[in-house]
Amino acid sequence: MSSYIVLVKQVPDVSQITDNAFDPESGTLIRTRLASVINELDSQALAFAGYMRQLSDDKDGRIVALTMGPPMAEEVLRYSLSRRTDIAVLLTDRALGGADTVATANPLAFAVRKIAAEIFSSEDNYYVISGMQSVDGDTAQVPPQIAEELGLACVAYVTDVRFRNNHFEFTRIISGGSQVVAVKKQPAVITVAKYEWPLFATFAGTRKANRMEIIRWGADDIKAAHIGVAGSKTRVIRVFPPGKSMRKCRHIKDVRSLAGILISTFASQDQGRGNDSTKTGGYVLPGRRSSWYDRRFEGTEKERQDFQILADTLSRLGIHSAGDIDQAAKEKILTASGDHFHQKALEDMVEGLKLTRPSYTGEVWVVAEHNGGVVHPATFELIGKARELADNLETKVGVCLAGFELEPMTKELIAAGADNIYVIENQILRDFYPAAYRKAVADCIKKYSPQIVLFAATPQGRMLAPMVSYRLGCGLTADCTSLDIRDSSRKGQIGILLQTRPALGGNVMATICTKDSPSQMATARPGVMKRLAPDYSRKGKVIRHNVEISDSDIATRIINTELGTGQVNFGAEVIVSGGKGMQNRDNYNRLVGALCQGLSQKLGTEAEKGASRAAVEQGLIERVHQVGQTGTSVGPKLYVALGISGAIQHMIGIANSQTIVAINSDPNAPIFRQCDYYIVGNVEDIVPELVQALNV
Ligand SMILES: Cc1cc2nc3c(=O)[nH]c(=O)nc-3n(C[C@H](O)[C@H](O)[C@H](O)COP(=O)(O)OP(=O)(O)OC[C@H]3O[C@@H](n4cnc5c(N)ncnc54)[C@H](O)[C@@H]3O)c2cc1C
Repeated sequence: MSSYIVLVKQVPDVSQITDNAFDPESGTLIRTRLASVINELDSQALAFAGYMRQLSDDKDGRIVALTMGPPMAEEVLRYSLSRRTDIAVLLTDRALGGADTVATANPLAFAVRKIAAEIFSSEDNYYVISGMQSVDGDTAQVPPQIAEELGLACVAYVTDVRFRNNHFEFTRIISGGSQVVAVKKQPAVITVAKYEWPLFATFAGTRKANRMEIIRWGADDIKAAHIGVAGSKTRVIRVFPPGKSMRKCRHIKDVRSLAGILISTFASQDQGRGNDSTKTGGYVLPGRRSSWYDRRFEGTEKERQDFQILADTLSRLGIHSAGDIDQAAKEKILTASGDHFHQKALEDMVEGLKLTRPSYTGEVWVVAEHNGGVVHPATFELIGKARELADNLETKVGVCLAGFELEPMTKELIAAGADNIYVIENQILRDFYPAAYRKAVADCIKKYSPQIVLFAATPQGRMLAPMVSYRLGCGLTADCTSLDIRDSSRKGQIGILLQTRPALGGNVMATICTKDSPSQMATARPGVMKRLAPDYSRKGKVIRHNVEISDSDIATRIINTELGTGQVNFGAEVIVSGGKGMQNRDNYNRLVGALCQGLSQKLGTEAEKGASRAAVEQGLIERVHQVGQTGTSVGPKLYVALGISGAIQHMIGIANSQTIVAINSDPNAPIFRQCDYYIVGNVEDIVPELVQALNV
């Protein structure tokens, strides 16, 4: 018998955003203006738990829904109780509010322990099941951190399950393919990335759910170690609206015009691909600045302005050193600045001015991802960024490389910009086993204490980073699109990493910094940072680090791995991709093939075939053609998307394309808001017409 603890979360309904949901002044989202719903992937997790119980024909297995939130989060438990859930637990307490992922995972893990002890009578034959991420946080960090706290196996990004020989086997998404795994023992944590099993409430179920008792626990009942703002390891510095898309989003009404646009834009484009909007803007450490009160590099515009006013005031008063600022001087400053500052703010700024040393020391590290002896492109992009950060901070770039038979990769990593490669070699690390990798990487970081550690926001990185950071007591920011070195002098922090990321489904941006942590950690989106041109004359050091790893460090068993094979030239200037909207393999071959050929002939360049993950999973084309977060990130001069909806995981992979053209039959397809030109229509009608128009 197995039981299930399903983590459910109440989130704002970001699919129903209206204009009045935004603050007109700041442009940020007012959460209370949005309806609350169950996080979509959590409802799929609930269905998944029900399906597991059904597959194993286990009538005694109980499903417990657990949520942490304000009292109104009870709604999400009533929803669950009306759909297969037997018991509901609400963890609610003011003290738990304002938590980041560490201070969310920690109390939830303690609540899981309490459920196991009190409801499951300490039997450990249960699974913790949750959606892979929530739409408001989008981090995917909480479930692996719960697993880390409880010392359990974690299988993330699961899309399917089967029951064989009395065991569950889970299919999960990995970079470049999929994998079937089983856990060696229960309990275990499973996160669901996609699951289309129906989950309906009956009238009787809804009536019963409304009458059922909900178990309520507060912070004192679970006695967690990290709760609320105080237990969090990150601090939000600023929330702001996302910049307007640089894409033109022009609706083209007829195919002939589209053909003309394709030809003219292709001819007018230069060879350069994209531009790096993530540059730090040449941060300079305070000790290198010409003046001690130069605070140009503050984290927010307001802080920069305040320090400028302070600097001007000090200069006018003839104060040229922090030691000259006594109580009398402070009063003069307050008056001379026209009472611009509050007394306390001035005190903080003056204290901040005295700081000249960076708050963190050590190297800037990248944790490398690789498969079959090939380094993941995102690792090279991160090294490019790490080089820039390390140069600003006047330190070295380190790469943590765990695996087996690693030597050939070290040269490439040094050529890409690394100074020191920390190699952890062990036969068990030949495959990515999260618990074993966590042990190896965390041990190495602990020994060498880098100040910054970057992971790629791939399925592997988004799984490993939360486990490593949690184990080492560090904050972690997920899915960053910009990384910057700045000061937060008033908070006593110099040369810190500002980590900017989209949140709430991309409707807001947040800048976050790490607090109370030995290292600053972040995952960064593939395709956003820029790889440096390899320089094989660069010299670097290979440092071997030994960690004891044995079979007992492996918590899962890999049953089968499916990865793309074959040759594809994604360096081509034109890529035509087909999505699930191509319907079948014949359509894909005929339409994508014809448009590739037509564009190649007309533009005199090579055109390569690409695909969305859904098209690959439908068997329309081999996996090696998959473009996106778990496929390949591309940056052609021209990217044409046929029957592709525009899911974030696909768009991440094409962000560096110079021109994006979309053809889709749905006038509201999300890709239309993220492309340059689009035409609404059926691919079977439009593509043949377009090929013909190109040939005229
Ligand atoms: C961890 C993780 C990683 C992922 N990695 C990737 C990745 O690397 N790459 C990727 O692509 N996805 C990835 N995905 C999946 C992603 O979330 C989407 O499910 C996927 O991109 C959808 O593919 P699609 O647009 O082809 O299909 P759908 O979203 O089903 O869209 C099909 C589109 O076709 C249109 N259409 C239908 N019929 C026609 C017609 N006759 N003519 C014109 N248009 C038509 C529809 O209007 C619709 O917009 C990942 C998901 C997860 C959870």
